[in-house]
Amino acid sequence: ADRRAAAAAVGPGVTSDGHRVPLLANIGGPADVPAALAAGAEGVGLFRTEFLYFGPEGAGGSSGAEPPDEETQRAAYRQVFEAFPEGRVVVRVLDAGADKPLPFLRGADEPNPALGVRGLRALLERPDILDTQLRALASAAEGLPVRAEVMAPMVADRAEARAFAVACRAAGLRAECGAMVEIPAAALRARALLREVAFLSIGTNDLAQYAFAADRQLGAVARLQDPWQPALLDLVAAAAEAAAAEGKGCGVCGEAAADRQLACVLTGLGVTSLSMGASAIPGVRATLARHTRAQCGRAAAAARAADSADDARAAALAVLSGE
Ligand code: PEP
Ligand code: MG
Repeated sequence: ADRRAAAAAVGPGVTSDGHRVPLLANIGGPADVPAALAAGAEGVGLFRTEFLYFGPEGAGGSSGAEPPDEETQRAAYRQVFEAFPEGRVVVRVLDAGADKPLPFLRGADEPNPALGVRGLRALLERPDILDTQLRALASAAEGLPVRAEVMAPMVADRAEARAFAVACRAAGLRAECGAMVEIPAAALRARALLREVAFLSIGTNDLAQYAFAADRQLGAVARLQDPWQPALLDLVAAAAEAAAAEGKGCGVCGEAAADRQLACVLTGLGVTSLSMGASAIPGVRATLARHTRAQCGRAAAAARAADSADDARAAALAVLSGE
C-alpha cells in the first residue's frame, strides 16, 4: 500500500490498465511553477497569460495602461518553458474583454460583457497585441526542448480558428496552435475547427456558462454551473469524439478536471489530457490509477444517461466503486 501511495504521489497520469492521461497544471504565471512541479505535473495545460497584462505594476511588468512589450513577455514565458524541459506547456493567449476590461482594449460599453468582444474576438480586433504576444512566445521557446503550444480562448467557429492559425504562422511560431472549446457552437462543430488547428482544450467553466445561459460568477445559478450536468458531458463528448476521429488531442482545462471522479468520466468520454490547479493533481492521479479505461467508459455512459447533475454523479460513483 505504501508503494502504491508513493507511485500515486508522483509519476504520470495512467489508468490501472495502462491508458495514459497526462496530468497538467493550470498556472497564472511563473510564481505558480513550484507548486506545479511539487505536485508532479507533467507540464502545463493552461498558462493564463492575463497576469502580464493586468496591473498592478510589478506583478507582471505592466501597469495595465498598455500591453507589456515583447521582451517583458519573452522573459516571463521563458521562465515557465525552462521549468518543464521535458514537458508540454500550453500557453493561452490573452483572454480579456469587456468582462475583464483592459484600458488598451476597446471600451467596455457592452450591455452583455460575457457575450461581447472578448477572448479571441478582442485579439482579432487588435492584431498588434496578438502578434506581439505570438512573437514573444516564438522567441521564448527558441532552443529549448520544451513542447510549447499556443491556444486561443473563446473560439466560436472555423473562421476564427483559421484566423488564429494564420496569425501563429505569420509570427513565425513553430509551436502547434490549438483552440479552446468554451462555446457550445465550437463543441458541436469541433471537427471543422480541427481542420485549422492541431488540438482542442475544453474550458468547462465557460462552456457550462454558455451552455446553460448561467453566469459563472452568480451564486444564484450555481446549480446550472455544476460540471456534472449531463448536457455539459454531451458537449465534452462531441468535442472528444471529433478529435479522436481526426487523430488529434482534446484536453480539459476547466475546473471539471479537478474533480477526481469526474476526471475518470472525462477520460471515459475520450478526453486525452487533464489540466487543473496543482493541488488537485495528486488526488486525480491516485483515483485514475484505481480504475481501468473501460470502467471510466462505463462511468461516462452512466453519467450521460442521467437527467441531472446529482444523478449523473451518483451513477458514475456507483460504477467507479464497483457496484
Ligand atoms: C474555462 O473557461 O473553463 C477556462 C479554463 O478558462 P477561464 O477559467 O480562464 O475562463
Ligand atoms: Mg474560459
